[in-house]
Amino acid sequence: MVKINATRLQQHFEAMSLIGKIGETGTCRPAHSVLEKEAFELAASWMKEAGMTTRIDNFGNLIGHLEGKNNSLPILMMGSHLDSQPYGGRYDGVAGVLCAIEVLMTMKENNILPERSIEVISFADEEGWRFNKGLFGSRGILGKLEDGDLQRQDKDGITREQALKEFGCDVTKFKESEFKEGSIYCFLELHIEQGPVLDIAKKPIGVVSGISGPLWLTVNLKGQAGHTGSVPMPLRKDALLGAAEIIVALNEIATQEKENPTVGTVATIKVFPASRNIIAEEAEFTVDLRDIDLDRRHRYEKQLMDKIEHITKKHGLTYSIKEDTNSEPRYCADWIKKIIHENCQKMDLDAPELMSGPFHDALTLSYVCDYGMIFVRCKDGISHNPLEYASYEDLALGTEVMLGTVLDILNK
Ligand SMILES: [Zn+2]
Repeated sequence: MVKINATRLQQHFEAMSLIGKIGETGTCRPAHSVLEKEAFELAASWMKEAGMTTRIDNFGNLIGHLEGKNNSLPILMMGSHLDSQPYGGRYDGVAGVLCAIEVLMTMKENNILPERSIEVISFADEEGWRFNKGLFGSRGILGKLEDGDLQRQDKDGITREQALKEFGCDVTKFKESEFKEGSIYCFLELHIEQGPVLDIAKKPIGVVSGISGPLWLTVNLKGQAGHTGSVPMPLRKDALLGAAEIIVALNEIATQEKENPTVGTVATIKVFPASRNIIAEEAEFTVDLRDIDLDRRHRYEKQLMDKIEHITKKHGLTYSIKEDTNSEPRYCADWIKKIIHENCQKMDLDAPELMSGPFHDALTLSYVCDYGMIFVRCKDGISHNPLEYASYEDLALGTEVMLGTVLDILNK
């Protein structure tokens, strides 16, 4: 049986973790930076060892290409990202790139030359914090950049355009780096879970059912300011009190069916005029509601609207709601999920199916091809934090599952 080399995989993680290292276990590797370039050079050296040719395209993606026997077939694409959060860990994104490289190294050692070509990609700026918008490389190759994408600035006033030029990209030649429709057969991504579900269930590997679609709202409540010492309670129009009740209501809505993966969060609130002895005239907060089941999400959204209507009426408030993002859940392809499950079974792994709350590059790819994702357990669900941790044993298991999955897909 073909097996990956777990020792080599670990060495690759260890070597990669030195680039942009902060503290003992942290990483800061901004998108389109010198550090990301260094990470690309290291990853490219391994890609070459695995028999791939490498290039950095005009979006700043690193791409390794393994030529198949029949290069007219749509390619199998795998990958993730090597950029990190400013105060990030060693596994987010890195796991998906290094596991893909290990799969191809193993294939080369076993003289497995695929029919269709395989490309391993480290997508540029998945994380999105530097220019406040992510999934840049994956949107780029699919012709999905938006107006203003290049003019976004980082905190030092450097635009994405400048950063890309310094990285060696030619922003006038984006078209040349786009993938033609139908040229990608399927996309596979391994990622650490970034949540605690697998850790709590004591399962090293999970099969992703899909990436949940977030609904992002900004809710604004208006009441009436007044002296906190003198306005009698029954006469108040307290916007913050209304907001508090709505926040609790959202929590109740999201948890009404305990077994479901629905998550609902209010994480920011602005109060006006924010003085301890003035009743809040205005309160504005954000809502983040996610679910893999779109019907259920719609149902919950309706419940939330009813609550907002009811609560604001009770407190004599007016309200307005702005929809910031409304994306639908994107489901993994059943046939790929089945292959991943079969490979887990072969390895005696009981791998639960779970949704991904966070975005990944796979979300972008899901609009042009079938996709599948493998989750690897991470300790206490901690991510975007130097404390992020996945064991080399678990990462090796995930890579083994990925290898089996790739071989089965190639033999289909
Ligand atoms: Zn990631």
